[in-house]
Amino acid sequence: MQGEYRQLFIDGQWCDAESGETFDDINPATGETLARIALAGASDVDRAVQAAARAQREWARWTGAERGRVLRRAAQLLRERVDEFARLESLDTGRPIQETPEADVESGAECLEYFGGIAAGIEGEYGDLSRAFYYTRREPLGVCAGIGAWNYPLQIACWKSAPALATGNAMVFKPAELTPLTALKLAEVFRDAGLPDGLYNVVQGFADTGRAMTAHQGIAKVSLTGEAGTGKKVMAGAAETLKQVTMELGGKSPLVIFADADLDEAVSAAMMANFYSQGEICTNGTRVFVDASIEEEFLKRLKARTRKLKLGDPLDPETQVGPLISKEHMELVLSYMEAGKESGARLVCGGERASDGDLAEGAYVQPTIFAGCDDDMKIVREEIFGPVMSVLTFTDEADVVRRANDTEYGLAAGVFTRDLARAHRVAGELQAGVVWVNNYNVTPIEMPFGGVKGSGLGRENGHAAIEFYTQRKSVYVELQGVDCAYD
Ligand code: NDP
Repeated sequence: MQGEYRQLFIDGQWCDAESGETFDDINPATGETLARIALAGASDVDRAVQAAARAQREWARWTGAERGRVLRRAAQLLRERVDEFARLESLDTGRPIQETPEADVESGAECLEYFGGIAAGIEGEYGDLSRAFYYTRREPLGVCAGIGAWNYPLQIACWKSAPALATGNAMVFKPAELTPLTALKLAEVFRDAGLPDGLYNVVQGFADTGRAMTAHQGIAKVSLTGEAGTGKKVMAGAAETLKQVTMELGGKSPLVIFADADLDEAVSAAMMANFYSQGEICTNGTRVFVDASIEEEFLKRLKARTRKLKLGDPLDPETQVGPLISKEHMELVLSYMEAGKESGARLVCGGERASDGDLAEGAYVQPTIFAGCDDDMKIVREEIFGPVMSVLTFTDEADVVRRANDTEYGLAAGVFTRDLARAHRVAGELQAGVVWVNNYNVTPIEMPFGGVKGSGLGRENGHAAIEFYTQRKSVYVELQGVDCAYD
């Protein structure tokens, strides 16, 4: 597909941007241009919103069972194209082909299937008032906007569009400009599954395109996955027209490993929590708190396994760590590695760009571990979004909980212990939207997902997501006549 042109998808049609402008989508492994993408401006966003609004009025009249059938068919079609989607996702994001069939395509299909399954089960409430009764209807919001981050573009498109469509809304989606391809291709799947024109639209572009969506009067809700700073701007923009918002933002999550933990399992989790997807995951447990009594053994096993990780071409089935999303992002991650060294943290392994042989043209960095970290270090406080782990030690449960919570973020946390009471006690005390006990970064579609504090608002996945794509209408029905104060 080297350098091929990709149009927008609006009202069931492939179309150019009104301005005719385009931007380049770059392969992070080679620096080459993967595709040329139509750049949507405000007028294209407006076209998409008008089409979505027309289509949504009719879609909302379909039964939940009918809508669910389309989503389940889409799940099946996506699964049938797993190789094609996984390859494209790996090319666009740089994430290894070992990961993308399961973590992106299958998880996207599961999401479509899940919300397809519960579309027919969306119910209101009934209340008996003796002289009257009331019931509530769960109605769609209208046109919803989805704005995605670049790390999991297909999964994010599914996480936002499946619950929106299941509940009778229409979706206008903007992937991040660094990864425009798979969310766009998802339009083919929806079309082939029988989704009526106008219900899933893809506009492409940068922050300006996102701003046009946030400001548009015809959009009822914005669901953003992105940085905390972007979240604040989108919320401020959405406030102008009182839109609803769901915010899936960044994190600096703690992973707490007690002395009684299964150490090999804990090492596996720490690696998954820092190096999977090159560390470009919002929930990553980058602050690894280890009981001081097991630190030495933990680091020994961690280092041995981390050094064996194979960096390389994302399309090579042997590759475990691919390039970062862009050269700019690589420079940022390298600057954090330098900050770690300068702050006196002990470099256990990594800490450099990886540029041997075939890696030279790509945005590769070495999986990196710093030990002896302090709570106040820059690498411990700021989201890096790269494969950089900070290891800290503790001796006391209450103290480690306090330190784990000492962050502006609250997306996720992990606890490793064999002590049942401690596991639940600590899970209850950690300030996070998700706490994993004896595992890390597992996000089943059934389980609500989202952050607290600076990590966001609202929830995706599970039945909880329905709450954020519907609004209740209360209907009061009188049985005994009007009790008029003026008779
Ligand atoms: P950004 O916040 O930079 O961008 C997210 C999206 O918002 C992109 O599509 C971007 O466009 C768009 N955007 C940027 N500025 C505006 C604006 N002012 N108005 C409207 N839209 C705007 O995030 P990244 O793409 O860099 O992704 C990394 C971040 O996402 C990390 O902080 C990570 O933690 C977070 N994230 C959170 C997840 C969660 O579920 N909690 C999951 C995955 C990532 P463009 O970039 O195209 O210019």
